[in-house]
Amino acid sequence: MQKIITVVGARPQFIKAATLSRQFPKVGVEEKIVHTGQHFDSNMSDVFFEEMEIPRPAYHLEIHNLSHGAMTGRMLEEIEKILLNEKPDGLLVYGDTNSTLAGALAAAKLKIPVIHVEAGLRSFNMEMPEEINRILTDRISSLLFCPTDVAVENLIKEGFENFPAQIIKNGDVMQDAALYYASKAENKSQILQKIGKEKFVLATVHRQENTDSDEKLKNIVNGLNQINRQMRVIVPLHPRTRNLMLQLNIIPEFTVIDPVGYFDMMMLEKSCEMVITDSGGVQKEAFFFGKHCITLREQTEWTELVENGFNILVGCNIEKLLQAFSVSQNKKSDFSKDLYGNGHAAERAAKEISIF
Ligand code: UDP
Repeated sequence: MQKIITVVGARPQFIKAATLSRQFPKVGVEEKIVHTGQHFDSNMSDVFFEEMEIPRPAYHLEIHNLSHGAMTGRMLEEIEKILLNEKPDGLLVYGDTNSTLAGALAAAKLKIPVIHVEAGLRSFNMEMPEEINRILTDRISSLLFCPTDVAVENLIKEGFENFPAQIIKNGDVMQDAALYYASKAENKSQILQKIGKEKFVLATVHRQENTDSDEKLKNIVNGLNQINRQMRVIVPLHPRTRNLMLQLNIIPEFTVIDPVGYFDMMMLEKSCEMVITDSGGVQKEAFFFGKHCITLREQTEWTELVENGFNILVGCNIEKLLQAFSVSQNKKSDFSKDLYGNGHAAERAAKEISIF
């Protein structure tokens, strides 16, 4: 396999794509990137391409601010045109967004092999749009790169061994990114000077399952307000959450900042006392940087973090959140365990893709 089209569209995908894009020239794979435009603010998109030196997208579709169906449909149509024109040997997608599903579907219908990085993850909550996207994408992929043993087991339980697909456990590319960019972040980021020296909890909230319910969102803000009375809480707020809080007139007592670039985010993760989040990526980054995490969800795809005591699931229950906060404050853990491949996931995946 030589020529790959990579479809990305959302913040975590830029971070994941950075790791493989860096490996492809080393193994002789030509890559062209399609940016669907799902995330488009400069602090949700451009900053990652610049800081992480991701190759400029060959195509920019600028599809955003649409309902799930309309967004996925428009992407499907545009990606199909590109694939017909480029005739790649494979199409690469990451994670679980509408851009992932649209890319995979466009390619599979044209009989272009689909490569899915971050395959096999499951929350077993079909109310999450991400769960629908990841299940469907996995099913039509030819090469499934799983970050963890649990992800491999999930695919096997679903019968994937009987499908014409190759399952490879390569580790988590987000750990590659965290390790590779950590020293650059130390040199370039100014965020710690800006926020001051006070101890803080780092929190992020953006999952649709939390933001689309007024009650859940109010509970989460209320819980973070209460924690903020004990220890400063800093929240780089996702635009979706910010808009909904404005509409519902939910007033935070904690420190809200605009979404930050990857370098700033890494420095915040490294320097905080603990992390509170509903993000998939941030749960793992907490672990990479040796911090306990409290997850504002009922399930997680990264169950090994919970099983090993690094992460506590609290949903949007304020009492559970406050209890987890006090438990995590006094807890000591050994974060040296190798759960995610220790930084070689992209290298392994790129090699496999080059010989596929
Ligand atoms: N992130 C960032 N700036 C922020 C918030 C998050 O760079 O203000 C990064 C974070 O470090 C992680 C990724 O974005 O690498 C996670 O993306 P997100 O939480 O949007 O999506 P999820 O991982 O839940 O799919």
